Amino acid sequence: LAAKMGVNRSTITTVMDELTADGIIESNFKGGTRIISNTWALLLSENSIWNRYVNLGSFKSNHAMIQAINRLEFTPGILRLGTGELDPALFPGELWKKAVKSLENIQSLNYLEASGLYQLRCAIVQHVKKFGILATPDQVLITSGSLQALQLISVCILSAASVVYTEAPTYLKSLQIFQSAGISLESIPMDEEGILHHRIPGKDSRTRILYTIPTNHNPTGITMSQRRRQALFEYCAGNRIPIIEDGAYEELYFDNQSPRPIKQMDQNGNVIYLGTVSKTLSPGLRIGWVIASEPIINRLGDVKMQMDYGASSASQWIMTEFLNTGMYEQHLEQIRAAMKNRCDHAVRVLRQYLGDQVSFRTPTGGFYIWLRFNRKIPMQKLFEEAVKVGVLLNPGDIYDYAPTNALRISYSYLSCEEFEEAVERLAGIIKR
Ligand code: PMP
Repeated sequence: LAAKMGVNRSTITTVMDELTADGIIESNFKGGTRIISNTWALLLSENSIWNRYVNLGSFKSNHAMIQAINRLEFTPGILRLGTGELDPALFPGELWKKAVKSLENIQSLNYLEASGLYQLRCAIVQHVKKFGILATPDQVLITSGSLQALQLISVCILSAASVVYTEAPTYLKSLQIFQSAGISLESIPMDEEGILHHRIPGKDSRTRILYTIPTNHNPTGITMSQRRRQALFEYCAGNRIPIIEDGAYEELYFDNQSPRPIKQMDQNGNVIYLGTVSKTLSPGLRIGWVIASEPIINRLGDVKMQMDYGASSASQWIMTEFLNTGMYEQHLEQIRAAMKNRCDHAVRVLRQYLGDQVSFRTPTGGFYIWLRFNRKIPMQKLFEEAVKVGVLLNPGDIYDYAPTNALRISYSYLSCEEFEEAVERLAGIIKR
């Protein structure tokens, strides 16, 4: 190609690298390269009617690397070393059959009330009591996954003049949702015990809120200590900063139960608690919940009716059956045991293949290990090289406001054998 065009070979390589970094082309591990950006494809046809529209809306596009991950996940045979989902081998098929069969007894799948199926809200009230949250069914809203809860919060009770404090790093989709709503974000550093609460500004005239994932944090795996929870709760109450507590990994502890949620200390409705079954049972069910004071639940529920008319009623009945029959609890126990085994194995494998290159802490629950490199590694390049050998990575940079020199490693998705294979390939690239 270089000869045909009469340019230097290195010019072509540089151009290819830049197009890859900008998410315009992508090389796969079978050796091919293709154009992947829709925007670019549309721009190529200069007089397309859509050129002025395609990026007009208020939602931001995903980061090019996130778009690449979303696409590459579905490449047959690729080893997904960063995926925050359960291994399909852990899918509880028999329990599902029973739960779905229970749909035979329901009267209709009509629209439900704005805050969701009453029977499911009652079952959730009982369920969260096990880890210390006391609520009434009127303080529960069923959402289509907890991501929707974050979206509702961003458009219902915050505005472009608000600020959200988040841990650095944090769950990437929450960052995007707040950014798309035009909300300012401020990152607060963490230590081994969780967010450094005294780094949250004491005074600010803007409406502000803290978003935290205190238990089995995504992406670092840190669980906030009991004393930090207490200090954070008091600090925020003293400075009139409400809290969004994201409990997506609440129940995925290994040996000892996690400290009680921050919501448990909340007597005045200062905390909005988010739950989901995406990490324990199935993201495909699209069932999450918000626990908050009634005015907040009513406001979010009212807008949710505009958004999607309520979470799937079939899913809500199925989830009610899972909870009321004890099948959910039974399944949770199996998942906890499986995650603990996989985590122990992952730690051994990472030490064996990368021990002298990285540092990380051993998780006490959840899905993730935050793998920090001891020397500077160009993340984009590492990502691309890994794809070439059939490994899909989640570089730490997509979870933060600044470069991290880290990877989010997940032990939830791959089998132990696949995990070892992926880490061996990764170690090969790092050594090269
Ligand atoms: N919060 C956290 C911290 C998560 O990791 C995830 C899923 N990756 C979610 C919320 C959203 O999950 P869902 O919308 O599927 O309930």
